[in-house]
Amino acid sequence: MTASPTDTTCPYCGVGCGVTVTPGPDGVKVSGSSVHPANHGRLCSKGAALGETLGHEDRLLEPQVDGHGVDWGTALDKVADGFRRTIEKHGPDSVAFYVSGQLLTEDYYVANKLMKGFIGSANIDTNSRLCMASSVAGHKRAFGADAVPCSYEDLEAASLIVLVGSNAAWCHPVLYQRLVRAKDTNPGLKVVVVDPRATATVDLADLHLTIAPGMDVVLFNGLLAYLDSEGLTDASFVDDHTEGMAAALATARSSAGSPSSVAAQCGVPVDDVREFYALFAEHERVVSVYSQGVNQSSSGTDKVNAIINCHLLTGRIGHEGAGPFSFTGQPNAMGGREVGGLANQLAAHMALEDWSHRDRVQRFWRSPVMADTAGLKAVDLFEAMGEGRIKAVWIMATNPAVSLPDNRRVREALARCELVVVSDCHRQTDTTEFADILLPATTWGEKNGTVTNSERRISRQRAFLPAPGKSRPDWWMVSQVAQRLGFAEAFAYTAPAQIFREHAALSGFENHGQRLFDISALSTLSDDDYDSLAPIQWPVTVDRPRGTPRLFTDRRFFTPTGRARFVAVSPQAPANAPGEAYPWSLNT
Ligand code: SF4
Repeated sequence: MTASPTDTTCPYCGVGCGVTVTPGPDGVKVSGSSVHPANHGRLCSKGAALGETLGHEDRLLEPQVDGHGVDWGTALDKVADGFRRTIEKHGPDSVAFYVSGQLLTEDYYVANKLMKGFIGSANIDTNSRLCMASSVAGHKRAFGADAVPCSYEDLEAASLIVLVGSNAAWCHPVLYQRLVRAKDTNPGLKVVVVDPRATATVDLADLHLTIAPGMDVVLFNGLLAYLDSEGLTDASFVDDHTEGMAAALATARSSAGSPSSVAAQCGVPVDDVREFYALFAEHERVVSVYSQGVNQSSSGTDKVNAIINCHLLTGRIGHEGAGPFSFTGQPNAMGGREVGGLANQLAAHMALEDWSHRDRVQRFWRSPVMADTAGLKAVDLFEAMGEGRIKAVWIMATNPAVSLPDNRRVREALARCELVVVSDCHRQTDTTEFADILLPATTWGEKNGTVTNSERRISRQRAFLPAPGKSRPDWWMVSQVAQRLGFAEAFAYTAPAQIFREHAALSGFENHGQRLFDISALSTLSDDDYDSLAPIQWPVTVDRPRGTPRLFTDRRFFTPTGRARFVAVSPQAPANAPGEAYPWSLNT
């Protein structure tokens, strides 16, 4: 263990709190980092208990093949041979990686590079798909880039916070504490919670809208129509910086109707709907927070755009205390998005479907092939495995036999798959039971790298403990396998700082201000600079070396026209409305 205190980041949720670990005679003391802008010294009970998780019980401490301990060389040869043989016989789309928002950005970058640019398939997807793919798609439709406009500071600068499908009290506790404190300091701050359930977050609410499950689009379409009818359109912003308002408004009017119609469709009192709409109309500084209650839905992307439409109509974006704000679930869901760790993305926020982006990334990587069509997304990937189309899979830092929906089918798929490789820090999980090859991974406190939180803030995770047994970081394992597959030069990494510099350089490669995700100013960090890197919000460029707290302050968006897009969205009720046949509505 290092002798002096280590500043690192909590590995539990997308708030991304800074943590200071101080060694002592009885183990380590974990406290909130007073200098980290996400939490200013606070931790929730989960973060505060991190010191109790550092034991080695049930750790996987050596590689295993078919249940027998082996050395690393044997295990890595087996993985590489298995993937090579499968690719030779059945093609690159017969193999897949299933990765995780628990990985560090450097792990993610290397896995994505190997699959898309060297194996030549886009069959890499992540468990973060389940928590934020709807937000990614909604941002891209509206802004032309997967960009969260706000900072946590905007929560304190706002005069109205709307929490939609977000139980922040449980899921993002330190942000909830910030909201509680903001309300104490500023009694004028209003909080509206939109949630079918009376969660703990409702304690903070001035108004709780208990809408029927799945009715978010009706509520926000109704708000859009109301704001327009009340003359609250920011005409100069809409005229100069957006497109598509007329179609979005027409759809909103026809689908939602009056506040009475909205109330009837959503199953809430009309006075509550009117009060919410009046609050939104009255407050210039509105932040709409949304989370899994919006994202985890068959119409999640439309819900995201229904919310964003209201911010575009009123110009409540790109200035202090205003904007739509997606809270991410996992600690590094955002970092995974940056490196393209989804089956339908390329690295550095480039688009898999755009040949010029594929060409650019391929030239940067000097790679022999490049995936040119989207790969299998999480649920589809395991379905394909169950049908025998995916014959080799590498699962990193996640437990899909438990965490994916319909896990009986996931287990059947894993049982059918010819080669299952699992890298994990735990010896025994529901997924490791299916593994042919187990690779021992380092975990929090033992590995070095970066994560990005919900407000685009890149923070370092730093090691303060030695790696136990033969455990190694995931980026190292992937690089070793890549070298055995014949790609030694492109995967000659010996430290995460090298990977981070390459990732940062790719973000700026032939960018010329065309892509919002740009951290090129970090591409020249020395190893010491990387070690001491302070939390910083992207973009980080030569012009903005200290990072960027708030996006779209210049009213420029990343669509082909440079305008933000309204998206016309129609409500989609749950497939089986509650009634006699289906008396229960379940949500996540
Ligand atoms: Fe960790 Fe999230 Fe709690 Fe912060 S709020 S201490 S990141 S679990």
